[in-house]
Amino acid sequence: MLTEIVSDEQLINLYTEDGYLVAVDYPKNEVKLHTIDCMLADPISSVGVKPSKARENKTGEFWYSKNRKEANLKAEEISKKKVYTYVVCPICNR
Ligand SMILES: [Zn+2]
Repeated sequence: MLTEIVSDEQLINLYTEDGYLVAVDYPKNEVKLHTIDCMLADPISSVGVKPSKARENKTGEFWYSKNRKEANLKAEEISKKKVYTYVVCPICNR
């Protein structure tokens, strides 16, 4: 099941789960797929995504799924619709 992530807390609570995060960056015109335990998908990390702030400033959106195929489909759908670049994160892609 695909879930929209609207706050840092929501994402922090998913850290110990398996799964994938679709991070959409409006200013960068980019959609990035992470595993949920990637440091770039961790709001506590200084380099991590910040869903609360992104929502407040309307600079991005985030989606979570336990299933890679489902996350991948969502990422592709968004990147096609918005004509954004779709990137699989090079750090956590394994
Ligand atoms: Zn990553």
